[in-house]
Amino acid sequence: MNENRIVQLLKSRYSRRSVSIKKGIGDDAAVIRPRGASEYLLITSDMLLEGVDFRVEWTTPLQLGQKAIAVNLSDLAAMGARPRAFTVSLAVTRGISERWIRDFYDGLTDPKHSMGAHLIGGDLSSSRGGISISVTALGESLERKVLYRHGGRAGDIVYVTGVLGRSAAGLKLLQKSIVHPRTEPQRAALRSHLSPLPRCEAGLWLAQSGFVRCMMDLSDGLSADLPRMCAASGVGAEIDEAHIPVLDESRGWGFNPLQLALHGGEDYELLFAVSKRKADLFEKVYPSNLPRVTRVGRLISDASKILMISESGRRFRLLDQGFDHFR
Ligand SMILES: [Mg+2]
Repeated sequence: MNENRIVQLLKSRYSRRSVSIKKGIGDDAAVIRPRGASEYLLITSDMLLEGVDFRVEWTTPLQLGQKAIAVNLSDLAAMGARPRAFTVSLAVTRGISERWIRDFYDGLTDPKHSMGAHLIGGDLSSSRGGISISVTALGESLERKVLYRHGGRAGDIVYVTGVLGRSAAGLKLLQKSIVHPRTEPQRAALRSHLSPLPRCEAGLWLAQSGFVRCMMDLSDGLSADLPRMCAASGVGAEIDEAHIPVLDESRGWGFNPLQLALHGGEDYELLFAVSKRKADLFEKVYPSNLPRVTRVGRLISDASKILMISESGRRFRLLDQGFDHFR
């Protein structure tokens, strides 16, 4: 089993659409229409486990809280929702200090990472096997402004926000025991791995602009996430290798920037498609104060193909080597 197979299994058994459930399993967040409300409610959950998703030697409790909320809000950003509230279930080993708890919750509620969403509850438990964090976040959006993974069409231009592979570069630095780097690019790489900022403002703008046909966030790497958006939209894609916004500096640190961008994961940038006809206008009106957007390729009608076009013009299959918990 891998993640996609498990989600597929759950979708086939439990997926349900009704007047009140607009989207169940299989997108970045579920979408509910409360009776009589003019706005949709979006719900998403994410878990961080010690030893699997983080190591206590590398992160402070403050950063851990910041990351736990940011990875959830990234899924709301991916659908263009405004974050409203969240709950946190936390299991910690006995003997945890009050200082740790205070710092962790300070991180969770840090306005730069929680984007105005309020902590409204949760649960506490003790753990014998390390720290476990589970966050559920709620967002709101107007009915017609919700962006799903489906909706992309052949010919649409594919975009990403920000730089891809920076978080993976940060993780690789930590694995090389570079915990206190001296240069700013390396510090930034560590920051994007340990305390990422969710792209909520960009997600909201993109959803409200009317330019975007489908969107998701990049949590497992372009090679894993792009096929998911394509599958939901019933299309394939071609990506131009030369256009992927990679972290060039990481070459000097002994890494392969392209590999990190394609397969690294945890960038929490946005991946979306705009109709070709509107792409130029979209780029013209996209606000300069938001994270930059880059044209990386196009959607194609052959749904069986996710291709990469090398700088020399050669086409080859982009294999999904992104992050998977069960691989
Ligand atoms: Mg997601």
